[in-house]
Amino acid sequence: MKKLVILGAGTAGTMMLNKLNGNLDKSEWQITIVDQFETHYYQPGFLFIPFGIYNRKDVIKPKRDFFPSGANVILSEIDRIVPEENKVLLMNNQVLEYDYLIIASGAKIKPEETEGITGDFGIKAFLIFILLKAPALYQISLNRGKMMPRLRLRRGDSFQRRQKRNGTN
Ligand SMILES: Cc1cc2nc3c(=O)[nH]c(=O)nc-3n(C[C@H](O)[C@H](O)[C@H](O)COP(=O)(O)OP(=O)(O)OC[C@H]3O[C@@H](n4cnc5c(N)ncnc54)[C@H](O)[C@@H]3O)c2cc1C
Repeated sequence: MKKLVILGAGTAGTMMLNKLNGNLDKSEWQITIVDQFETHYYQPGFLFIPFGIYNRKDVIKPKRDFFPSGANVILSEIDRIVPEENKVLLMNNQVLEYDYLIIASGAKIKPEETEGITGDFGIKAFLIFILLKAPALYQISLNRGKMMPRLRLRRGDSFQRRQKRNGTN
């Protein structure tokens, strides 16, 4: 039995699990996927929260909803890979052996590592990319002038006025 281990059950890891699970012979392959979180965060959806189009519920879903049935899933933080021994050490003290390893652990945003991006400017620039801060931006848009809805209305109004003036509607 060949062992395939996927590190990270985000977008890439979950897609690999689904594709390979459907294509590899189950009598020859054992596939295991590891992630530290039970929930999936749909990051592109974060962009819609500040404008009131999505809320937290729309971007947070159980990862299991996207796994094929019977998938071997381990919920644990990954400690490290020991490539010379084909092993992965997990924070729950499990040791996984692999023949093939897929590393799909994603990227972490680290604004503090870019000079000048922290402080007031950084807080504003990165609000949308951090789920916990996105609803705060929505609140700002509600409390201080409803940024998007008003912009949209004004544009629509003036567009309609211009059309009327020009007799084009
Ligand atoms: C605001 C925003 C908007 C975006 N918009 C778009 C868009 O419009 N279109 C688009 O294509 N892409 C978009 N992206 C990018 C897209 O979301 C990412 O490219 C995609 O999620 C990356 O997938 P991934 O599988 O590589 O990483 P992720 O989806 O981040 O998955 C990595 C997984 O690895 C796990 N993990 C990491 N380290 C460990 C560890 N030590 N132990 C255990 N588990 C671990 C994490 O818990 C996570 O589940 C956007 C991203 C953001 C932030």
